[in-house]
Order: sequence, then C-alpha cells, then structure tokens
Amino acid sequence: MRPGEEQVAFPVATEPASSSRPPSAPSPSPSSRGRAAGAGLRPAVIALDVGGTDIKSALVARGARPGVPDEILVERVVPTRAAQGPEASVAAVLAAVEALRAEVPAGYQVRGVGLAVPGTVDEAAGVVLNAENLDWVDLPLRQVVADATGLPVGFGHDVRAGGLAEARLGAGRGEPDHAYVSVGTGIAAAIVLRGEVYAGRGFAGELGHGGVRGGTPCPCGGSGCAETYASAAGMARSYRELTGASASEVPGSAEVLARAQAGDDVAREVWDRAVDRLGELVAAMVRVLALPVVVIGGGLVRAGDDLMVPLDAAVRSYLTIHPAPRLVPAVLGSAAGTYGATVLAWDAVAASDLEPM
Ligand SMILES: [Zn+2]
Repeated sequence: MRPGEEQVAFPVATEPASSSRPPSAPSPSPSSRGRAAGAGLRPAVIALDVGGTDIKSALVARGARPGVPDEILVERVVPTRAAQGPEASVAAVLAAVEALRAEVPAGYQVRGVGLAVPGTVDEAAGVVLNAENLDWVDLPLRQVVADATGLPVGFGHDVRAGGLAEARLGAGRGEPDHAYVSVGTGIAAAIVLRGEVYAGRGFAGELGHGGVRGGTPCPCGGSGCAETYASAAGMARSYRELTGASASEVPGSAEVLARAQAGDDVAREVWDRAVDRLGELVAAMVRVLALPVVVIGGGLVRAGDDLMVPLDAAVRSYLTIHPAPRLVPAVLGSAAGTYGATVLAWDAVAASDLEPM
C-alpha cells in the first residue's frame, strides 16, 4: 500500500467493468477526490509515455464488457520542455494529465494514471534514479503525480513498459518467458519471466552499455558501448562521422540501410557491424536465460526482414549449445510505451481497489 491512498470497499479485480460492481457499494468518502467509481460510469485511465522530446498521452477507457479491448478516447502529444529544466518537465507531465482529465467525456470516470518514463528507473520505489535527457535525478515521480491527482499511479521504465505491453497485448503474448529488445535511440531490453517483467532494481536489460574499452564516449560515462554504434541513432551517427554526411542527409538508420543496399561500402560496414553486435547481445541474454523467444522492437524494427534475417543469423553465430531463440518483430510500434503505461495504470487501479479498508 502506498501512503496517502484511500480505499474503496468493493474489490474489483482486473476487469473493473461497471456490471461487476455489487449494488451495495458504499458512497465514496469526500476525501477520495472522485477516485471511487460512480454507478454506471465507465472506468478510464490516463496513460503517459514521457520521452526526452515529447509526452505521448492517451485517455483510455476499459472495454465495455470483459474481453472487449480498451478504447482510446483521446490522444495527445505535447512537448516535454526538457530544455527548460527538470521543474518545467515535471510540470509538463502534470499538465498533460490534467489536460486529458479535462477532456473526459460524460459517462466516464478516470480511475488511475500510468507513467512510462526513460532513464534508470526503480519501479518498486516509484523513483526515476537518473534520466539524463530530462535532468531528472532521484525524482519520486510516482508520488508527485499521486499527490497532484489523488489517483493511483502505475509507474515504469519506458522499455519495460513497452515490453509489458508487447507481452500482454502484442508479439510476446502467450510466451511466459521472453525478452523484448528495443533498438532505437539506445538499446535496452525488458526481460519477461513467467509473464512478469523483471526490473532488477531498475538496471535489468540495460544491454547497450559497458563491456568494451576504447571507442566513442557514451553518455553513461563509458566508451565504445554498443549503444554508440549499434543503436538506430548510433548507426546514423557512426556513418556521419565516417563520411562527413550531415544530419539532414542521414537522419537515421533507415538512410544507412538504404545507402548500404545501394552499394555504399561504408554504410554496409556500419549496418553489418551494428547487426552483428545486436546479435551478440541477444545471444548473451539467451546464454543466461535460455529464452525461447526474443521480440525485437524500437525504431530499427521498421527495417523488417532487412534487419530480422541477418540478425537471426548473427544470433545463431554466437550460440553453440543453446537453442536459438525465435526472433519476432514487435507489433505495437511507437505506441508500445503508451500501451504499457495503460497496462501499468490498470494494474495500479486493481491493486488500489483490492486494498483492505
Ligand atoms: Zn554507455
């Protein structure tokens, strides 16, 4: 139980559809600030995927009946305002929540908030340990949002939230043990064991950092980290450094791949080296955890078979006695973080509803 939370008397499990509530449910106390569900109101949550540049947000209603998918009522993208300092970006998060709360249609009631945030994140404590892009250090964001809204708040790391969404709704569905590897600005994995995402005090699955000495300095303090050349952003940066191409000419990994396919030897080397290292990282996870399935997500997965086929070969080349995992492309795309925040919000609502009086 989190301090300062109110309790409601009726237990509503993971499907808090209005029809499941007993008619004898008591009226909410005035201090519950609208948290307890009103009769006949459809429950909804506010989900935020907080990035270094934008906050993706959505107002999501529970499906009308059990088994019916959730319904996105409103979607918004607002700037994170990171350049204006940590107070401004925290204010932007709170404003994004309130903006959606002001748009709740009649007949719906917001029951909780879900947050997916970047950086190193301690989910159990509700704290952002360090988010470099946002200049957040030891920020107890879950409590900040809970205090500001009076609502239960689900809280998680963006990649682990994306992995949770893929596990429950997407490419990892039906696979109790797997990993979701996001290759975008960085490289990180959500490790799903027995259907639960393993966070490891906030550091599990940070595949992109460490392990090599020398090479390009990395924001983590190391150098030559896989993230500096094998992430989607790292590939583009490596190619630009080797060729002098501008950021407008080669903004991302898609352009590197296009040039490689057009016969550019430097682009081919950058692409192949990155895919080889990604394969090595996936194989390292498989050596430890013997995962049968690895979901590949993040911006790089848009390359489709141009990524998945050589990556599969690379993973196999780094394994001997271990069975190679089945590599599966993620299906939720850039919405994975928002979906993950939605799942976190519903879990927080369910946990809050189950708290004893
Ligand atoms: Zn690093």
